[in-house]
Amino acid sequence: MNAPVLTKIEQPTLPARYRTRTLHLIDGEQVEPSSGEWFDAVDPCSGAVIAQIAEGNAEDVDKAVASARRAFEQGPWSRFKPSERQATLLRLADLVEAEFDDIALVDTLEMGRPITPSRGFVSMVTRALRHYAGLATAIHGETLGNSSPVDLLSYTLREPVGVVGAIIPWNGPVFCAAWKCAPALAAGCTVVLKPSEKGSLTPLRFGELCLEAGIPPGVVNVVTGHGVAGAALADHRDIDKITFTGSCGTGQKIIAASAGTVKRVTMELGGKSPNIVFADADLDLAVPAAAMAIFNNSGQVCSAGSRIFVERPIHDEFVARLVEFGEALRLGHTLDPETQIGPIVSRGQFDRVCSYLEVGPQEGARIALGGAPLREGGFEAGFFIPPTVLGSVRDDMRVAREEIFGPVACVLPFDSFEEVVARANDTEFGLAAAVWTRDITRAHRAVKAIRAGTVWVNHYGAMDPAVPFGGYKMSGYGREGGSEHIESYLETKGVWIRI
Ligand code: NAD
Repeated sequence: MNAPVLTKIEQPTLPARYRTRTLHLIDGEQVEPSSGEWFDAVDPCSGAVIAQIAEGNAEDVDKAVASARRAFEQGPWSRFKPSERQATLLRLADLVEAEFDDIALVDTLEMGRPITPSRGFVSMVTRALRHYAGLATAIHGETLGNSSPVDLLSYTLREPVGVVGAIIPWNGPVFCAAWKCAPALAAGCTVVLKPSEKGSLTPLRFGELCLEAGIPPGVVNVVTGHGVAGAALADHRDIDKITFTGSCGTGQKIIAASAGTVKRVTMELGGKSPNIVFADADLDLAVPAAAMAIFNNSGQVCSAGSRIFVERPIHDEFVARLVEFGEALRLGHTLDPETQIGPIVSRGQFDRVCSYLEVGPQEGARIALGGAPLREGGFEAGFFIPPTVLGSVRDDMRVAREEIFGPVACVLPFDSFEEVVARANDTEFGLAAAVWTRDITRAHRAVKAIRAGTVWVNHYGAMDPAVPFGGYKMSGYGREGGSEHIESYLETKGVWIRI
């Protein structure tokens, strides 16, 4: 096969509404970083600097939290009628939709998801906003019977939890911003959003669109920057709840930091998700789905199906077909609509994934596909790693245990149902899993036996704001999506009234 060559596409400038030197968004105003410092946002496809992002620190976070606190205590948002919150969120969805092309483009430029899948991912934003707009009018308490000797009426009131600190990763910048803010806003909370340093531009624009939609100043504040800004939110005495999506290690630091003020905490962390293919599976479905479960967005997906367990009678055929499928995937420029696989987000992540490409074979894994970064054909300016399939993987190898967050599939043969369930569960994570079989009884048994927050059967990756998503074990706690999501932004007050 000929070595791939990167299509030459001129580096685009940012759309007009995006600043090339960003500021924080605090109390409805563009605010200079008090550090007086900016850092570069780099296009991982070309290595070009596309913008400079304001470096946030504790002082900026203080200002943003004070603004969110004022907006919550005095401002009109928590006193908006539910139907007004609903109408505003629906307007926000329309505004996001009107800028859909720009938003997808900017996410692609900043974090490297190829433009066609990027457009698919951004479409989830409007879906989430409209879903939570609907729930804004459905929040309700209960009337509860009691056995008090005195004649007392008891009921519950549901109230917004208060000021929310939302700390998000880079692998879906605007998606994560909306996924955190929509239910918080529907519940009547105010927010300080801390985007990832590798995905700040569309969350900033999302904050501006909140204002344009009629969400009052101070309700959604955006402070950009690195971990320092996130850490300042995590232990801030005026933040009532932290909602975090990111790596397990950062999550642990945030949990520890939040303890001093006993914050409510939601944790959406990493995974090492098992994808189990039984011998009776429809391989025409299972092979492409298993491939895209790990190669999509170059494996930089929290629920990536990174451990593919294949029943021994079909193991060799499955590996051959997986390799064939992976080989045919089109690596290319992120702005080429035909591109399926783009770069890794940054130099640091690229080096980290490359280190696993060395560790795997050192531990005895066999490279069946890929295995080395692209260093020619124009790809060398960016951070490209081709789809990689590792065979002869054992459960105890680091590549089978640690979250690589790269396009690296580990294929592991198995012999029985009991064995594969035990091995699938033998991980510190529990975010997602999939099972491929035509046997409905086996499918149901596997769904129950697997310790993970999501299990797909004969499918991989479906998500919807109506369906809960979240982790068992060290993949986190709390659920996003489903009724639990909006619940997590509400307090419950018990009320007693003498009759
Ligand atoms: P990360 O943990 O490095 O960073 C996430 C966010 O935390 C960023 O905004 C970062 O600036 C901030 N941060 C860093 N240090 C901090 C600190 N000490 N205190 C507070 N905030 C801090 O994660 P990442 O590299 O951006 O994202 C990749 C990780 O996210 C992977 O592990 C992936 O599995 C996980 N992820 C999980 C889900 C999910 O829903 N479960 C979704 C997407 C990504």
